[in-house]
Amino acid sequence: MAQVHRIAVIGTGYVGLVSGTCFAEMGHQVICADRDEGKIARLQQGGMPIYEPGLKELVSSNLLAQRLSFTSLISDAIVESDIIFIAVGTPTEDNGDVDMTQVNSVIASIAAYSTTSKIIVMKSTVPVGTGRWVEEQLKSLVAAHLDMHVVSNPEFLREGSAIEDTFHPDRVVIGADHPEAGARIAALHAPLRTELLLTDRESAELIKYASNAFLAAKISFINEMAHVCEKVGANVGLVAKGMGLDRRIGPHFLNAGIGYGGSCFPKDTKAQLKLAQNVDYDFKILRSVIEVNHLQRERFVHKIEQAVGNLNGKQIAVLGLAFKPNTDDLRDAPALDIIAALKDRGAIVNAYDPVSTGHAARLLPEVNLLTDPYLALNEADAVVITTEWEDIRRLNWRLVRGLVKQPLIVDGRNIFEPEEMSRLGFTYVSIGRKTVA
Ligand code: NAD
Repeated sequence: MAQVHRIAVIGTGYVGLVSGTCFAEMGHQVICADRDEGKIARLQQGGMPIYEPGLKELVSSNLLAQRLSFTSLISDAIVESDIIFIAVGTPTEDNGDVDMTQVNSVIASIAAYSTTSKIIVMKSTVPVGTGRWVEEQLKSLVAAHLDMHVVSNPEFLREGSAIEDTFHPDRVVIGADHPEAGARIAALHAPLRTELLLTDRESAELIKYASNAFLAAKISFINEMAHVCEKVGANVGLVAKGMGLDRRIGPHFLNAGIGYGGSCFPKDTKAQLKLAQNVDYDFKILRSVIEVNHLQRERFVHKIEQAVGNLNGKQIAVLGLAFKPNTDDLRDAPALDIIAALKDRGAIVNAYDPVSTGHAARLLPEVNLLTDPYLALNEADAVVITTEWEDIRRLNWRLVRGLVKQPLIVDGRNIFEPEEMSRLGFTYVSIGRKTVA
């Protein structure tokens, strides 16, 4: 292996924990720091604060090999490292402004505790210009003999396949204005044998927002197409397949459904729109992308209402809470808005999710959260599918047909072929395809 680096990762959430663990697996000495003492105590004892396939095993083996450690003392992590990755949250405020409180607090800590030169790598998604600003701040705060270089290294991992994405990324983007700092971070990623794109900092920061905005646009586009399909009697699945076979378009992110959610697309699209507004540019496409995504949730509730009739007192089984499969992340999950709308209309909601019912209780106090899907489905007036978990697809739907009060499925993720559900005796309503009975 090439040089072993002493790396600190500040912020041990979905991104920081995965990145830190993967750097340890690559042979580096990694300290992951987080201000959340409960999270750190759990990690130190081999527990997992999040659900991410394969992560627990990788954390355990690297703890055992003493390449990975966890601390709630940010100062220790800073003192003991040459390269500091920042992976704290950057939520957006309602107006689209990025809330930089967490990043600012880390910068203050780096300034306070650095006694040697550092390369600071910004993994958090931050507005364009942040890297330059942070470097200026640090240089003005630390002793003059210390070199402080800030490199932008936006993260593209997907929750649910985060480890695979980290070891086999489509590309690694490194934005640096200081060639040597950029080269060191590039060398750190060289073993990944992927396209390393070296850019200036501003371009790197913008690549992250541009990528998420474009992916969100694909989703809103196909969701708009789904409405057209319903009106003209076409099948959006086939339309997407036909489009996706064109290599200029590609098959990904063309699944019609209830729209995007999660901790990234909603906030990053809003932040990108605001960023454009701040430089006097009206990013019209992006504004529509966001609006369509918002409407998609409302339209789905309307679809349920049309299929069920008056929802007051009706028992609805909602299958899937997380914003996508293989994660427990509920941040801006469409299911939460849909459940709230069903409750507003007087429905009784029994919800099931394979991994997130535990921490959903805080967010959904008036919902019956069940860890057994068949209990959620018992006596249901309608089944509503909101996350495309394999566990949900694989339920014994013949058995379900016998459990429910009304054989009605409203599928927001198009996980079944309509004829298959019709054969089992369900009325099956989906997105952008004909309803079958
Ligand atoms: P997260 O909320 O899961 O984790 C952030 C962590 O930072 C928390 O554990 C929090 O306690 C900790 N923290 C906050 N302030 C701190 C401080 N001052 N010192 C130490 N720890 C502190 O967030 P996340 O989902 O991992 O996202 C992190 C960043 O990466 C965000 O900017 C996000 O936009 C970006 N990103 C996320 C994903 C994703 O799939 N989650 C993908 C790409 C990029």
